[in-house]
Amino acid sequence: MNFTNEMMERYSRHIILKEVGVKGQMKLLNAKVLVVGTGGLGAPAAMYLGAAGVGTIGLVDFDTVDLSNLQRQIIHQTKDVGKPKVQSGKETINAMNPDVNVVTYNEWIRADNILDIINDQDYDFIIDGTDNFPAKFLINDACVMAKKPFSHAGIIRFQGQTMTYVPGEGPCYRCVFKNPPPPDAVPTCRQAGVLGVMGGIIGTIQASEALKYILGLGHLLTGSLLTYDALNMDFRKVKLGEVKDCAVCGEHPTITKLIDYEQTACDMKDGH
Ligand code: ZN
Repeated sequence: MNFTNEMMERYSRHIILKEVGVKGQMKLLNAKVLVVGTGGLGAPAAMYLGAAGVGTIGLVDFDTVDLSNLQRQIIHQTKDVGKPKVQSGKETINAMNPDVNVVTYNEWIRADNILDIINDQDYDFIIDGTDNFPAKFLINDACVMAKKPFSHAGIIRFQGQTMTYVPGEGPCYRCVFKNPPPPDAVPTCRQAGVLGVMGGIIGTIQASEALKYILGLGHLLTGSLLTYDALNMDFRKVKLGEVKDCAVCGEHPTITKLIDYEQTACDMKDGH
């Protein structure tokens, strides 16, 4: 890829950072990040990754834009209501930054397609921007099996959490949360609500983890879970212990193929 004068100007605030420079910006332009879900978390994550010049961004979602999404899913606009979210997301990213190759997957992730999607562009990093436990466990297990780093996050009401998994460098999501709760045991955002900014705050942290991973900078949220309570404006970083017998990333895994956990009807339609 040629580094053009226009790129020099567009990314000048990155290039001036000695930790990034032209070399780092080239790494971003050559990097591939998959964003699963273009809702509350995925929308800001994908927009910041696009603005930063991540060269290939995959968007996965089977939903269409609903009026009730626009309170927080800022990648979509009122004119996009009814449009596939991946299409709307691609248009927003490319209007902002035509350097980005946006690859769209207009489908739900399932046990029988997620590895194909991850391997389609040999993505370097995956962002879990989904809103339901079956998808979160599926992304975790697929990333462990495909040896791919990913950022987990969840938001509801005034609370959020996020952690980063890098193969061989700390626990996976299943190490911490073991198994999905029974369907309908935990309320979704549709049932419980979510403050509009929660996805922006947590989704942007996910994007920063992806950028840091690609650039090889600083410390990632591996081995710890960051929780955020907006009402008390309280960020906490909880250190996660070693889990040796994890069912998927442990030395003797008992989960060796991907599982489609039961989703509630609400999960299926509920964007964060
Ligand atoms: Zn694990």
